[in-house]
Amino acid sequence: MQRLRDLSRRVEAVYGEIADTYARYQQQRGLTCPSGCGNCCQYPSIDATVLDMLPLALHLFDQGKAESTLAQLEADPASSGCPMYQRLSFDGMQGQCTVYAQRPTLCRVFGVAGYRNKHGQPSLSTCKVLKQQHPVAFEQTLIALESDPPPMLTLAKQQVDQLDYDLSRDNLPISQALQKALLKVLFQAGYSEVATGQQIA
Ligand code: SF4
Repeated sequence: MQRLRDLSRRVEAVYGEIADTYARYQQQRGLTCPSGCGNCCQYPSIDATVLDMLPLALHLFDQGKAESTLAQLEADPASSGCPMYQRLSFDGMQGQCTVYAQRPTLCRVFGVAGYRNKHGQPSLSTCKVLKQQHPVAFEQTLIALESDPPPMLTLAKQQVDQLDYDLSRDNLPISQALQKALLKVLFQAGYSEVATGQQIA
C-alpha cells in the first residue's frame, strides 16, 4: 500500500506542475476558461489511465468511499461521460468537478493544449467556448504559435506516464479507469491487512 501512496504523491506533484503550466499559458494568451463552465466535462469520451486515477482512488479509500463508489460505477457500466461531473444547469454547460483536486491529466489541459500536426508544426486544440468568447486572443494565439508555442499535451501525458508504465499502459474511459484504480487500491489494502495480521500472529 505504501508503494501506491508514494506513487500517488509523485503523480500529484506532476499534476501540480501541469496545472501551473497550462494555467500560465491560458493567462498569458488571454484564453482563460469562463467561471463555472463545464463544457469539456460533458465530452462523451474522456480518457484516463489507471495511474491517472490513482490519487482519486486513494482519496476515496481514505474517506471510506472506495467500495460504495466502485459499486456505483459497476451498477452503471454503460454510462458515458464523467461520473464526477455535477451539472448545475439544464443543458449541463454550467457545472462543477466534484473531485477537482484529484482530477486526471486530461482535465488539467482542458481549454487550450498544443499538439504537433502531420508536418511537425505546433497546432492548437481549443474548446469552442474559448474560441467564441475570446476571438481576438484566439487569432493572436494562432499567429504566435511558432514564437510562443503552447504546452504540448503529449508532454504532459509523458510526464505522468513515465512514473509507472504498467499502470499507464491503457487509455480507458474515465469511469473504467477509476474502477480499475479502486480495485487496485482495495486489493492492495486487503493484502497489506493480511500481511500485517500474519506478522502479529
Ligand atoms: S474529473 Fe472533473 S474535470 Fe475531469 S471530466 Fe470529470 S468532472 Fe470534469
